[in-house]
Amino acid sequence: MKSRYRFALPTALVLAAGSALAQGYPNKVIKLVVPFAPGGTTDIIARVIAEPLGKALGQTVIVENKAGGGGVVGALETARAAPDGYSLGVATVSTTAANPAINPKIPYNPTTDFTPIVNIAATPNVIAVHPSFPAKDYKSFVAELKKSPGRYSYSSSGTGGIGHLQMELYKSLSGTFVTHIPYRGAGPALNDTVAGQVPMIFDNIPSALPFIKENRLVAIVVAAPQRLAALPNVPTFKDVGLEPVNRMAYYGIYGPKGLPQEVVTKIHDGVLKALQDPAVRKRIEDTGSLIVGNTPQQFAEQIKAEYAVYKTVVEKAKLTLE
Ligand code: GLU
Repeated sequence: MKSRYRFALPTALVLAAGSALAQGYPNKVIKLVVPFAPGGTTDIIARVIAEPLGKALGQTVIVENKAGGGGVVGALETARAAPDGYSLGVATVSTTAANPAINPKIPYNPTTDFTPIVNIAATPNVIAVHPSFPAKDYKSFVAELKKSPGRYSYSSSGTGGIGHLQMELYKSLSGTFVTHIPYRGAGPALNDTVAGQVPMIFDNIPSALPFIKENRLVAIVVAAPQRLAALPNVPTFKDVGLEPVNRMAYYGIYGPKGLPQEVVTKIHDGVLKALQDPAVRKRIEDTGSLIVGNTPQQFAEQIKAEYAVYKTVVEKAKLTLE
């Protein structure tokens, strides 16, 4: 009894203080950390949502790129931030599922160190090659890789990211070998691939699609529930018999663990309001993404489930960071 009383007062005070803070929220600029370099899909989605979210909340939302460590540097900043709603992050499949599944030294727990708020969009993935690559379709692509094991390399958004893990899974299932070249995000990875420094990339559709449309990259195979309207002749991984690689990426918003419920609700409702705007919807859909807009609970469950999937992928394909 005694000890219960000892803790009861501070807890009540903390809750009251949190609630008072949450009531006035937001009364200053909100930071949204993108854990990758500019030009990647994380950056694209963050910049589409920041302005209308700010409008919905009556405050400015600024986007800050904190690249490094396959997204770990930026994700860690969000995990360690004060749980007041002014430091948010873009939750990606790479930082919440893929990297934690393969990286034993990950400095945060993807399922307990964050407060998931909302999944904004799901995006298909793509393997795309430079136009000088001696294959323009899936059949000749895989034949070329098998003919010359180790001759080619691929770029990705970073070590332990979805591009890295999915390409390694692809290699193990297809019996091919391509060397990994990690970047600080898909933006710089795309730059070098389009310039012909690296012959292929595993990327998310929003950042790669503009280059594919301009014939500066050639799409070979996509990860999507069905073929994309923008790329009707490009097969899905399922079409080519590699269903395990047929997984999409997600881009949501989370904060550090312990965000007050009122703050979560305000941000969540702000994002949903933004997603009702036809102009915002169009901007997201034009990137080739599917709008999600789920609840905080659903997003938390999705992160848990995806983390479990990637742990199985890593175990089954015996993937390591080496
Ligand atoms: N494509 C992302 C980027 O560079 C990172 C990978 C992910 O989607 O999780 O912005």
